Amino acid sequence: MGLSFFNTLSRSVQEFKPLDASSKKVGMYCCGPTVYDFAHIGNWRTFVFGDLVRRYLTFRGYDVNHVMNITDVEDKIIRRVRETKTTLREFTGQYETAFFDDMKALGCHLPNVTPRATEYIADIITLIEKLIARGIAYKANDGSVYFSIEKYRGCGCLYGQLQKLNFDEMRVGERVASDEYEKESLADFALWKAYVPDDGEVTWDSPWGKGRPGWHIECSAMSMKVLGESFDLHLGGEDLKFPHHEDEIAQSEGATGKPFVKYWLHGAFLLVEGKKMSKSLGNFFTLRDLLAKGFTGREVRYLLLSAHYRGTFNFTLDGLTGARTALARIDECVGKLRAFGPAAATAPQSEVVTRFTTALDDDLNISAAWAAIFDWVTETNKRLADGSFTVAAAATTLAIWEQINSVLGIGAATETEAPAEIVALLEARQAARKAKDFKRSDEIRDELKAKGWVVEDSPKGPKLKKL
Ligand code: AMP
Ligand code: ZN
Repeated sequence: MGLSFFNTLSRSVQEFKPLDASSKKVGMYCCGPTVYDFAHIGNWRTFVFGDLVRRYLTFRGYDVNHVMNITDVEDKIIRRVRETKTTLREFTGQYETAFFDDMKALGCHLPNVTPRATEYIADIITLIEKLIARGIAYKANDGSVYFSIEKYRGCGCLYGQLQKLNFDEMRVGERVASDEYEKESLADFALWKAYVPDDGEVTWDSPWGKGRPGWHIECSAMSMKVLGESFDLHLGGEDLKFPHHEDEIAQSEGATGKPFVKYWLHGAFLLVEGKKMSKSLGNFFTLRDLLAKGFTGREVRYLLLSAHYRGTFNFTLDGLTGARTALARIDECVGKLRAFGPAAATAPQSEVVTRFTTALDDDLNISAAWAAIFDWVTETNKRLADGSFTVAAAATTLAIWEQINSVLGIGAATETEAPAEIVALLEARQAARKAKDFKRSDEIRDELKAKGWVVEDSPKGPKLKKL
């Protein structure tokens, strides 16, 4: 089997074959953040997993259109807007900006499209109208529009595709208006929520009166608008399987009569010190909390990428210290290779890349991928120690590393993490400049360049940057 993923829809590992077999184009939708607070480390596990899938598909030659929505209107947000006496845009804007800053700090590629729910209200309304026209949605006495699970099933559609639902034990037919509801209730859920005074200014006109969309319909409308009625991949944390993703399928397939998504991938949860994260337990971390403790985004990324996405991950601060040590091992090895000069433009076939690819093809078996990488580090260190590297061999070895790193995204060590030899050269250059020995300082600059580093003078002093 080539590249394969565990598809929640089939409950099995399946070979990945895009819907459009004639091209390499892949549409991938990841449920994005609800911007009512800073994203926590659990959220980041899921988003970094999405980034890994996107990077790996790209590495395997696919042209990925990565879409991640911004949920900027739902129950929690409206409550916080009311409490903080701000406007919706002001309130969500600050957390949206923080989200993208954190994403960059974690070395994630920005998604190609990041639709905001509030900018897709017209599409949401059109989708609800389709469901009403097909008899699957109805306006209730409370003025809201609900999705009828009974009518949907009556059309021969399957509710409960991602998770086996027991219709006999569950209460069918009741209605739920809230965005997040109990897993035990198999109820008609709100597509459009009629205006209530608590909504304040957060309201839009619709054919059913003033109101706002439900959370589930937002994702159906945005994903289909950007990626089409059927697309390849849909990702999210495991908690979203039901009701959120089940409802997305029902709304989309109910409206179009076509299969919505081919592969559903769900990341398992992150626990902290073995417990569910909660503010009251004091084990709740945002990325900012960890940066304030002196850890870096790449250390956090490394740790989040150290375990398989389908296994529950136990996050600990000791684990982060371990990530620092592991990265230092890689950085030292790669730093020594860089000291020979820049990477070659192309990488030759190599055992490490073959092992890495075989591992990740197998439903992203990241542990086997890391094992291949650390064997490569050991082997490379041996060759460095016995002096057997030529400049050309170092350049191609570096190119191999860059190929691998295009998937891992753990970047390069920052200027402060430059090898000691390079830092010593920078210091010597500074001393020469101070002594007004510009000839010597230029020579050192050239020497640094030959070793793959440039010095950039800034008002804060010189900075080392990799070529
Ligand atoms: P939210 O901002 O609450 O909509 O969540 C954004 C993403 O984070 C969703 O895909 C959730 O499934 C995921 N998520 C929430 N909590 C955790 C956790 N503890 N571990 C892993 N993923 C999580
Ligand atoms: Zn969603």
